[in-house]
Amino acid sequence: MGDGDIIKVRGARQHNLKGVDLDLPKHKISVITGPSGCGKSSLVFHTLYAEAQRRYIECLGISARMKLNELPKPEFDLIEGLTPAVALEQQRPSERSSETVATLTEIYSYLQVLYTHLGVPHDPETGERLEKLTAEDVVNKVLSYPERTKLILLAPISAMQIEDLDGLKEDLRRQGFVRVRIDGTLFDLDEQWPMAKEQFEVVIDRLVVKEGFESRFADSLELALKVSKAEIRVLTQEKGENAWSTVSFSTSYRNPKTGFELHELSAKCFSPNSQLGACPTCNGTGHFEDSPCPTCEGKRVNPIYQAVTLFNSTESSGLSICDLTALTVEQLTKWFSTFLENNPLSKIESELTEQIQKRLTFLQKIGLDYIQLNRFTKTLSGGELQRLRIANQLGAGLTGITYFLDEPSIGLSSTETTKLIDVLTELRDAGNTIILVEHDPDLIQASDYLFELGEGAGEHGGALLTSGTTQSVLQNKKSLTAQWLTQKTASLSLSRNHPSEKEFTEFLSLKGANSQNLQNVSVELPLNALVGITGVSGSGKSSLLFQTLAPFLKEKLNKARPSDIEVDEITGWEQLSRIAVVDQSPIGKSPRSSAATYSGAFDPIRKLFAQLPLSKQRGYQASRFSFNVKGGRCERCLGAGVIKFDLFFMSDRFQECPSCHGKRYNRETLDILFKGYSIADILNASIEENLSIFRNVPSLNRLFTQLCAVGLGYLKLGQPAETLSGGEAQRVKIATELAKLKTANGEHNLYLLDEPTTGLFFSDIEVLLSALRSLVDAGHSVITIEHNEQFLQQADWLIEMGPGAGKNGGKVLKSESL
Ligand code: ADP
Ligand code: ADP
Ligand code: ZN
Repeated sequence: MGDGDIIKVRGARQHNLKGVDLDLPKHKISVITGPSGCGKSSLVFHTLYAEAQRRYIECLGISARMKLNELPKPEFDLIEGLTPAVALEQQRPSERSSETVATLTEIYSYLQVLYTHLGVPHDPETGERLEKLTAEDVVNKVLSYPERTKLILLAPISAMQIEDLDGLKEDLRRQGFVRVRIDGTLFDLDEQWPMAKEQFEVVIDRLVVKEGFESRFADSLELALKVSKAEIRVLTQEKGENAWSTVSFSTSYRNPKTGFELHELSAKCFSPNSQLGACPTCNGTGHFEDSPCPTCEGKRVNPIYQAVTLFNSTESSGLSICDLTALTVEQLTKWFSTFLENNPLSKIESELTEQIQKRLTFLQKIGLDYIQLNRFTKTLSGGELQRLRIANQLGAGLTGITYFLDEPSIGLSSTETTKLIDVLTELRDAGNTIILVEHDPDLIQASDYLFELGEGAGEHGGALLTSGTTQSVLQNKKSLTAQWLTQKTASLSLSRNHPSEKEFTEFLSLKGANSQNLQNVSVELPLNALVGITGVSGSGKSSLLFQTLAPFLKEKLNKARPSDIEVDEITGWEQLSRIAVVDQSPIGKSPRSSAATYSGAFDPIRKLFAQLPLSKQRGYQASRFSFNVKGGRCERCLGAGVIKFDLFFMSDRFQECPSCHGKRYNRETLDILFKGYSIADILNASIEENLSIFRNVPSLNRLFTQLCAVGLGYLKLGQPAETLSGGEAQRVKIATELAKLKTANGEHNLYLLDEPTTGLFFSDIEVLLSALRSLVDAGHSVITIEHNEQFLQQADWLIEMGPGAGKNGGKVLKSESL
């Protein structure tokens, strides 16, 4: 391989990396694997991607470069051959984000333009279709009248708008008009006028249909349109008739019956985020507290523009942009193919629909066909979100990019993983480089190159153990992955450390569950067991566990507020003491929260520091050792240790505080030492080190032991919560729960977990399983959503949901003891 074909990394030393050298081949799929905490993210995201970002900024203008001086360079000796990079991390959109699947993929933008060009407006009140004519259309209409028909051309002025009757009279006289019609009666300009009640019209011209009259009519029409803006009326009297009849013509979208008028359409009219397009009642937010906005019915777009529709063929009123985005990817794809069959499009319009269809195809390819386009991305699962981001990259059609992905297999069943592999292969074949942090056996097998970091976590890791083509590494006896993959079946059946003949007598019984896509599900979940729930994504696992069972039990057991739960009955919960939902949500969202704060370790540590002789002498209280309040903390960064760094349109980064150098505290506070460690040293030490520092403090000893037991010994106690992966955050929660147990005996708790194997290497999964097993052995119950085969084989009971996603799922296919 020539130098041009590789990304060359020498001496990478970020975080725990021990001077890693590696050559990543371009235009290939490489997997970086290894135990949790061994340094994969440090290498892939904090070194390679961070450096790519830094170099990108270097290409920007001077003002960006001035900031660049502050952007920390990752620690390495040399990186060559880096191309522009895109990272698809597991970051969640903020709670306030109104991003939807349609807006993220830009399908919405294309629809906005399509509706501007082709949308058919209706009166939002009456639903009548609105038509507009050009001046030429009106001339042609009038030309079709019989010869010698008398015409009076009128320009209506809204009676409401007339404030100064004398002024208006003067105006009209100056423009040369001689007659008006007020509420149906004609008046001369010199006559006394009554106040108009309903109609005020200026008589523009009187003429007779005959040869050669068009040019005069066209001139008068133009004049009439100047006076009335868009509407004109023509009184007609056919030869030999007495009665006059009235016809109205509108050259704007106007309903002559109700007076409703629609002005020029533009793309903004269809955006709930623009002033023009947002529903005027809710400002485009769609919901109040807990009910949909009555004006827009929660659809966020102004009802005026919701009445602008597209027809694919036979529908009576057509579909609004909101109706279209309420469809799933699959439904919208079908709708568009009928639409294209029945509507001849201009070149520009077909380009728009092609862009939309291309994106829909990518969404289908990656298995998101069941997702509604208007779904807020913040309500998607981590796995769905990441696949959405991948589909979007495919849609962008770039080449020469290095894509960094963080466990894209999360939440995927094996068929879905196959789809993901196809899509990644397509991205690679389009000339891109793919670098994955992964543990999934199928993705490892499908990769071109495999790099194993290890051997352990934190200071026990940080080294490259094996590397090469995936096939060669999997032949290598030293490879941990190879060992796991080859022994897989044998070792798994051996490690089942619970009696498989165990009888389950107590069950939680759900009847008639119907939230989201659940189809009247009834299911029995054994207690005192480790239960695994599996099934394709979107099949309804979370709907069952987190939107039905959890809120019900939280209300019954934890005195939570009642919420609307769509279920007929849940029984068998009476013997439970407490329910704990241990999901992947972050344990805190600022640099201020950490394993130390979440687990409750920080309180006893601060108290202990306040008890030290020097603290007493100086009168320091426990609060002195908090970085959230004034007193002991560094005031430059307000105790965060870092300062937020705005990277324009990229995600925010943080840089070390120049005053305390990341220590968070002021110098006086740092004088206080316990066994030679300052409070900052404690936060900066791994949990494993803290276990030995505090081994004589029973509560801390218990907590740190549990954190090590779930495989988090390598975490720094004070490492900001937002730098923890979803899987790490979840394990901090599990360990915190485990540590609580010893103090509250005789309880029977129910733990609900969401893919706890996220981020775990084969060996880590065994550690996690034994922690969960110890919960069950202590008389508790665990129910978890999981796809990992290694994990599921060791569960007591397995529930499979399916068969498909969305409306094709929502059923329990299997519920059985293992
Ligand atoms: P992996 O991705 O393999 O799970 P990481 O690269 O996240 O491992 O972590 C490797 C080591 O670096 C761990 O000891 C971890 O605590 C440490 N680490 C990770 N992120 C940070 C950070 N932002 N600041 C300091 N240490 C970190
Ligand atoms: P799983 O956990 O098996 O991946 P979910 O229970 O999350 O599946 O989803 C089941 C179905 O319900 C999917 O079609 C999903 O799109 C839909 N769904 C889930 N949550 C929401 C939500 N908050 N809003 C709209 N649809 C949802
Ligand atoms: Zn500081």
